[in-house]
Amino acid sequence: MAGTPLSRGFPWHLSNYRTMAAPTAERPVSMEEIAALAKRRGFIFQSSEIYGGIGGFWDYGPLGAVMKRNVKNAWWHDTVELRDDVVGFDSSIIMHPATWEASGHVAAFHDSMVDCRVCKHRFRYDHLKDTSRCPDCGSANSFTEPRNFNLMLKTSVGPMEDTSSLAYLRPETAQGIFVNFKNIYQTARKRPPFGVAQIGKAFRNEITPGNFTFRVREFEQAELEYFVPDDGHDMEAFHEWVERRKAWYANYGIKPERLRFYELKPEERPHYAKAGVDVEYLFPWGWGELESIAHRGTYDLEAHMRASGKDLRFFDEATKRRETPLLIESSAGIDRTMLTFLVDAYEREMSTDPNGKETERTVLRLHPKIAPVQAAVFSLARNKPELVGRAQAIERALRPHFRAQYDEGNIGQLYRRQDEIGTPFCITVDYETLENGSVTVRERDTMRQERIAENHLLQYLEERT
Ligand code: ATP
Repeated sequence: MAGTPLSRGFPWHLSNYRTMAAPTAERPVSMEEIAALAKRRGFIFQSSEIYGGIGGFWDYGPLGAVMKRNVKNAWWHDTVELRDDVVGFDSSIIMHPATWEASGHVAAFHDSMVDCRVCKHRFRYDHLKDTSRCPDCGSANSFTEPRNFNLMLKTSVGPMEDTSSLAYLRPETAQGIFVNFKNIYQTARKRPPFGVAQIGKAFRNEITPGNFTFRVREFEQAELEYFVPDDGHDMEAFHEWVERRKAWYANYGIKPERLRFYELKPEERPHYAKAGVDVEYLFPWGWGELESIAHRGTYDLEAHMRASGKDLRFFDEATKRRETPLLIESSAGIDRTMLTFLVDAYEREMSTDPNGKETERTVLRLHPKIAPVQAAVFSLARNKPELVGRAQAIERALRPHFRAQYDEGNIGQLYRRQDEIGTPFCITVDYETLENGSVTVRERDTMRQERIAENHLLQYLEERT
């Protein structure tokens, strides 16, 4: 394992490697550990770190940017590319401010906040378990009266900064789809049932950002708005999307015991919603929402028809009338989903090297489609040009097909690094490669190694990723 150089006469590695039954699997991982790894390996950095950072904003590093793209691709592939009844969309972040009046965000998109008069800390009122005593400084009865705080971030558009130039950074992507509903169904030649999917940035001036990238002020959402006719099959469509989303999380390996689909009770739903399910993950601090799936009825389109005076209905061939479709929405956060993949994949385990020495390794057991690097290629020695050249040639040949990376150095350290970033396969070129064209492939989860003919590598990796 890590620290042990590969050598010729390969099989002894295999027989000596032993992974102990994940002794740390039950030990809860802390968010600090995840954040430290994310920083150390280049997944996620604090935004504007050299100026002390800015609360609620994060940057995705070289590996994080790739991983986040993989998460989005996985969602897009399942939600749009595999379906002939869903089309893609990409609307602007800043919309006409009337949008947010009509949607209800100007009047009601707020959280209630309180301040502790003693320590001056600010809290979201609905997040307080006990409102009689400050959780930070312990003072009793020190809170101010709760007051509403609108979460939309404001900006101004154009050269004048007055009320006529006021605009908002969208707090969700969905409204861009609703106001375009007619443009979309006419140009895509669709009639309900059909869906519109969009991934994009959203902004919320959260009162208390925190838990790493879980609650942030700038994030990405992946939203599906699925429009159905009011023909009695709407709840079927709702359940189908819930099942589809369940399958998505399962396909990408999220541990089922840490995921739950919580069915909202009528009193927990907005008055217009007919059904709602929150997808929640068991984070180190408890359950947190990743996605909400809701049956929103005709609420959104009707609100925009009322405010704009424009007809957004479609002509229903069955009823021979213009109808407002019902809406099933699935709204997921990309940043929270990526954080979930990191937390869920993170493990520390003991393993024994060939000398009988026990060492701990950190491993991210990421799904190969989500892992930023899929195959790392090493040269056993960095000072042997024939090995280096061969390894680099293999990496170049893999690159069009997989996310491949060449590296060199101490093999044990290379394994340790690739384990930490979740690379499912490491390929090592050694002297035997020069003799018979075989390479060692080491699998991340089992640490098992096998010799593969170089010209079978592509097929080998294709079958396993
Ligand atoms: P919360 O109750 O956690 O504030 P919400 O119920 O307001 O979330 P929705 O409006 O349903 O969230 O947004 C849909 C999804 O967008 C959420 O499930 C989440 O994944 C993501 N999201 C919402 N707010 C944030 C945020 N501040 N940071 C990161 N992701 C967010």
